[in-house]
Amino acid sequence: MVTVRRTVPAPGFMGIAVARVPEGSPIELDARLESVLEGVLVTGVASMGVEAECARCLDPLQWVQDVDFSELFVYPATDARGAVVEEPAGDDEPMVVDDCIDLEPLLRDAIVLSLPMAPVCREDCAGLCPQCGARLDDDPGHGHQTTDPRWSALAGLLDPDQQ
Ligand SMILES: [Zn+2]
Ligand SMILES: [Zn+2]
Repeated sequence: MVTVRRTVPAPGFMGIAVARVPEGSPIELDARLESVLEGVLVTGVASMGVEAECARCLDPLQWVQDVDFSELFVYPATDARGAVVEEPAGDDEPMVVDDCIDLEPLLRDAIVLSLPMAPVCREDCAGLCPQCGARLDDDPGHGHQTTDPRWSALAGLLDPDQQ
């Protein structure tokens, strides 16, 4: 068993539409590689900075997201002489290839699952005014003079110019 601690740059787009890990930003890996019969069991945690926008008021958000991962990378099948047997096409089981394992697909899946679908700057963020787009938390008491459309006919009766 070996422990690997490494900081790697984030690959291209990682995340979801509303929250993502910027390309090239550091991802801190703390992984344990364990030799098991069928391959290498990889477990650990990855820490990465996430950039997002509040789903309600669109303010920019940043936080550090830790994701746990655990995956068995299998050795390629070999014949009796130890030669690698071609895998059937379409088998996407993670494998040890040339003594390397590729953590990227694993991290991509893990971060997608860990990110909130609707991040908010705070639980009770009031969001934006549906009429003018003002951020309501910045302007308590914000409102517009509006008339219920059901009353507009009556307003017309009261207004002599609309006779
Ligand atoms: Zn907000
Ligand atoms: Zn408004």
